[in-house]
Amino acid sequence: MLRMKSTCERCSASLGLADQAYICSFECTYCPRCAEQLSHSCPNCQGELVTRPPRTRSPTEVPDHRFKAKLEKLLG
Ligand SMILES: [Zn+2]
Ligand SMILES: [Zn+2]
Repeated sequence: MLRMKSTCERCSASLGLADQAYICSFECTYCPRCAEQLSHSCPNCQGELVTRPPRTRSPTEVPDHRFKAKLEKLLG
């Protein structure tokens, strides 16, 4: 599981779990503004910065969502 850092590595802006943030494959974390200024490339490891998935939903919603998608597929 990813460690959820709560601040930007570059400018120390606080990043809440529900805020949009960018991470590289080594989990360097940046705020959207820094990610843009860095051209979505991590200065520490040259990795690509990607959007961090938000953790606002509870895990129990995931199977429910998949079940619903399956149902919709079945029902056409
Ligand atoms: Zn920043
Ligand atoms: Zn990095």
